Amino acid sequence: MIAHYGYEDGSGEYYITINTEGCGACGGKGCVAACPAGIFELEADDWGRDAAIVKESARNMLRALCAGCKPQIGRDELLPCEAGCEKGVIVHSW
Ligand code: SF4
Ligand code: SF4
Repeated sequence: MIAHYGYEDGSGEYYITINTEGCGACGGKGCVAACPAGIFELEADDWGRDAAIVKESARNMLRALCAGCKPQIGRDELLPCEAGCEKGVIVHSW
């Protein structure tokens, strides 16, 4: 399942997309520990496998919560959540 979390306002669109197809086979669940803002948590999917979700409390605050990481855009380095996701299933829209 492709899950979209976020919002748009006058300044832009702020979405994180997670392809949870990859989460079931992910052993490390590295996204949870990798995010300094602690926005990811695990929730059982329809098959009872732990998949990453964006916490409800973070979904309308992504622009602010991710601001500390976003200067990395345009550089070679991945964002911490991208680097921590062994399956490469996390995508940011901005
Ligand atoms: S950009 Fe930073 S704060 Fe935002 S989800 Fe990724 S690791 Fe967490
Ligand atoms: S590290 Fe990636 S594949 Fe693993 S649970 Fe997190 S988002 Fe899913």
